[in-house]
Amino acid sequence: MRKPIIAGNWKMFKTAAEAASFAKEVSGKAEVEGVESVICAPFTALPALTEALQGTSIQVGAQNFHWEENGAFTGEISGAMLQELGVKYVIIGHSERRAYFAETDETVNKKTLAAFQYDLTPIVCVGEKLEEREAGQTKEVCKEQTVAALKGLSVEQAAQVVIAYEPIWAIGTGKSSTAEDANEVIAYIRELVAEAFDAQTAQSIRIQYGGSVKPNNVKEYMGQSDIDGALVGGASLQADSYIQLVEGA
Ligand code: PEP
Repeated sequence: MRKPIIAGNWKMFKTAAEAASFAKEVSGKAEVEGVESVICAPFTALPALTEALQGTSIQVGAQNFHWEENGAFTGEISGAMLQELGVKYVIIGHSERRAYFAETDETVNKKTLAAFQYDLTPIVCVGEKLEEREAGQTKEVCKEQTVAALKGLSVEQAAQVVIAYEPIWAIGTGKSSTAEDANEVIAYIRELVAEAFDAQTAQSIRIQYGGSVKPNNVKEYMGQSDIDGALVGGASLQADSYIQLVEGA
C-alpha cells in the first residue's frame, strides 16, 4: 500500500513569522493517520517551520537546492544545508523553475541523484504545457521528463521518489485536469517506472497530481487508482484549507 502524500508548495509566500504562526494553527490538525503531510516553504522560513513543527508528524520540505555539496554558486543552497535544518523533502524541477530559472531535465536529474546523499526525498515535477497537450504530446513530454529525472537511480532510491504530475496549464489557473485524465497520465508514468526499473518499484513509487487542487476537489483525485496524493500551491497557504486537504486525502 502506498501512503498518500499531501505536499503544500508555498512558492514565494510567507515570512518566517508567518510560517511559525501557520505551524501552530495546523499542528494536531493537518495530522491524519495514514497520510503524509509536508509543507514546502521558502528557504528563509525553513528554520522557524522545522522548529515550530517539532513533535508533530508534519514534515518540512524545500522548493529547490543545488546538487553540489558547496562551492562558488552565489545565491544557492546545498542539500547539506537543508539536512542540517531537519528538512526531509525537496521539490525538484517545478515548472516555474523550469520556465523562469532555466532548470533542464539534466539539472533535475543531478538534483534527484544528489537529494539521496542528504536524506532528502525528492518530489520531482513533470508535466506538459497547454500547447503540448493540444498537440497530443502529453505522454511524450511526461516520458522524456520522467525517464531523464530518474536516470542513474538505484531501484531502492527510485521507489522512494515522489513524482508530481503537474500539467502546466492547470497550475494556479483554477483549471484543473479531470481526475480521470490525471489518473490516465499518472498510470502511464507508473508504466514508465516499471519499464525503467521493475514492476515492484512502479507499485511502490508515489505519484501525486498537482494543478488547482482545492479542498472541494481533492477527494475526486484521491479516489483514483493511481493518484497517491497532491502537490498544492494556492490552497496550501491558508491553515484551514491545508487541514481540509490533508483530511481529504
Ligand atoms: C503548484 O505550485 O505546484 C501548484 C500545483 O499550484 P496550484 O495548486 O496553485 O495550482
